[in-house]
Amino acid sequence: MCGIVGAVGTPNAQNIVLNGLQKLEYRGYDSAGIALANSGTLHVFKAVGKVTNLKDILPSHDSSVTSAVGHTRWATHGAPSENNAHPHVQGSIAVVHNGIIENYQSLRNDLQAAGITFISETDTETIPALIHRAKTEGKTLREAVQNFVAQAKGAFAVGVMDTETPNTLIGTRRGAPLCIG
Ligand code: GLU
Repeated sequence: MCGIVGAVGTPNAQNIVLNGLQKLEYRGYDSAGIALANSGTLHVFKAVGKVTNLKDILPSHDSSVTSAVGHTRWATHGAPSENNAHPHVQGSIAVVHNGIIENYQSLRNDLQAAGITFISETDTETIPALIHRAKTEGKTLREAVQNFVAQAKGAFAVGVMDTETPNTLIGTRRGAPLCIG
């Protein structure tokens, strides 16, 4: 089982997320990643293996990063690789995901037919693609996430960051735990 940790509204977001990922290491995982929002810019880092490998490639603590979301992955769709590690990104949207999107193949086919390109083998990559498309069609971030939930089959916990609204993180779940504090 993988883990998700997010923090928003604090100059300590990067450290909170990294420490949280290390606390979740006991759950078992094959790779780790983090998205950092800094003045509307998205930075994504991923590493195969332990969270310490991710720490090694991160820039030192930056207090201008006030929003971060991280993930430890246990691969279900696609090899354990840096490319398949989360977060997955489409436009300004970064997503981490625990679980399985059972109907990802039909969602992916629809999105590809609409011209959207995928770069990973994961079911997860359909999530930022759906959210981003709904936003470009005029939905708010919240509505776009609700639209994803309405279309997705399966059990999941998901964290969503949008660099257009960096002071907001959205979490949503079905049949999988997710805590907000
Ligand atoms: N199904 C997703 C993947 O293979 C998430 C796996 C997980 O829960 O870590 O990337």
